[in-house]
Amino acid sequence: MKLFDQQQIKIYNTLSGEKELFKPLNEGYVGMYVCGPTVYSNVHLGNVRTFMSFDMIFRYLKHLGYKVRYVRNITDAGHLENDADVGEDRIAKKARLEEIEPMEVVQRYTVDFHNILNKFNFLPPSIEPTATGHIIEQIEIIKEIINNGFAYEVNGSVYFDVLKYNESKPYGILSKRKVEDLIHNTRALDGQSDKKNPQDFALWKKAEPQHIMRWPSPWSDGFPGWHLECTAMSTKYLGEQFDIHGGGMDLKFPHHECEIAQAEATNNHAPVNYWMHANMLIMNGKKMAKSTGNFILPNEIFSGDNPHITKAYSPSVARFFMLQAHYRSILDFTNDGLLASEKGFFRLIDAINLLDSLKAGNDSSFDINAWQQKCYDAMNDDFNTPIVIANLFEGVKYINQIKDGSATITKNDLIVLKKTMTSFVFDILGLENVSKSETSSEKLSGAVEILIQLRQEARANKDFALSDKIRDELAEAGIQLNDSREGTTFSTN
Ligand code: AMP
Ligand code: ZN
Repeated sequence: MKLFDQQQIKIYNTLSGEKELFKPLNEGYVGMYVCGPTVYSNVHLGNVRTFMSFDMIFRYLKHLGYKVRYVRNITDAGHLENDADVGEDRIAKKARLEEIEPMEVVQRYTVDFHNILNKFNFLPPSIEPTATGHIIEQIEIIKEIINNGFAYEVNGSVYFDVLKYNESKPYGILSKRKVEDLIHNTRALDGQSDKKNPQDFALWKKAEPQHIMRWPSPWSDGFPGWHLECTAMSTKYLGEQFDIHGGGMDLKFPHHECEIAQAEATNNHAPVNYWMHANMLIMNGKKMAKSTGNFILPNEIFSGDNPHITKAYSPSVARFFMLQAHYRSILDFTNDGLLASEKGFFRLIDAINLLDSLKAGNDSSFDINAWQQKCYDAMNDDFNTPIVIANLFEGVKYINQIKDGSATITKNDLIVLKKTMTSFVFDILGLENVSKSETSSEKLSGAVEILIQLRQEARANKDFALSDKIRDELAEAGIQLNDSREGTTFSTN
């Protein structure tokens, strides 16, 4: 018997607005698609939060024994500056500004994305397809949508006919919008004059002469609309109908709404059974976003080199901080929040490190099985990680009591306690067993502080040759010393 037969998950489905019992299409198998990053810049911590929510979900499904095919794409073409089909392609724009090839931009930021996710101990998805690798599949879908009467061609571009679609199928079911309201609220933007109606969206765009990311198609040399890639790749790898589709809240409209319309217009049935949306990471009361400059980069967290934080934090501490909030709640990024998480994280890890030294006795003063089920119940309740963590702290309390002799545990219960603590902390939450002094940035800080001290002593002794040597050699190693009236600090590049 698999664990998933005993543990029944309820998932909040954005489509129904309710928590629903999770029943995969094929028993024992789960197909999950999550919209990946547009690789035109470094991922910020907000992006990481959304991907982390789905990494935790992927981990839990696997833990329960499901065979999960997890597809998370890389958007390397088609995502314009403005979601309403106007502006430059984000990747092409970056390539133009940096005078490099678009594929150099894609390579640079895909590598960065993978490096960052590795540091946070993410599991790789089963398939990571790219939009540019699936142009043919996208063209085929456009042909079908045109054949089915839901798209039209104008001057080499193809648009999805939202009003036509809405005659037979409701457009807006995911984001709870009404087409009538959209008609009132959608302005016609420059460059959209080809559209019959401003709420129509591009399936294919004819490339202007200066647009370098272009492919041949029956309609023009051009490029696919952003929403189409996810329909093409999810259908190809998970089928016309699959279990879970995820992404950040901000993708509900228009991106996911358009995905539903495209799939319905192609296959005449809904593509996804459970739509899941992760909530936003905010900072200073506003959504963390590249476009507004209100963001923090993961590497800045690891080095402590950002005005919003007072010190460096290890990736596991940042991961713990994010999982202390439910994935559907807004999370406010603050230094105080991270400090508190760091304390809690090490309390948890310290207790886990005591497990091997605990002595078993003849009876248990704690109902270990009931506690274990509480941990599962929390995960089964729409992946409620803050409650799981609260339960794990009950385990921590018990471990510390056994250690100091004020509680007892039997041999068998000790096995269950160990297994539950390590499975939840390491396998499901994806945290790592780092020790307090192990973070490399903290070690670096300690070493540089010693050199700063030596330099001060050299200066006090008027040994300027030595003090300059310390400064210059640190600079060569990428560490700048900054002297001010308050003393000397350092920064890394
Ligand atoms: P993008 O590369 O802009 O397509 O974003 C990648 C993912 O990050 C999407 O699922 C977004 O919804 C998500 N995202 C963007 N900003 C935030 C944020 N501040 N908090 C959480 N998720 C975010
Ligand atoms: Zn997508």
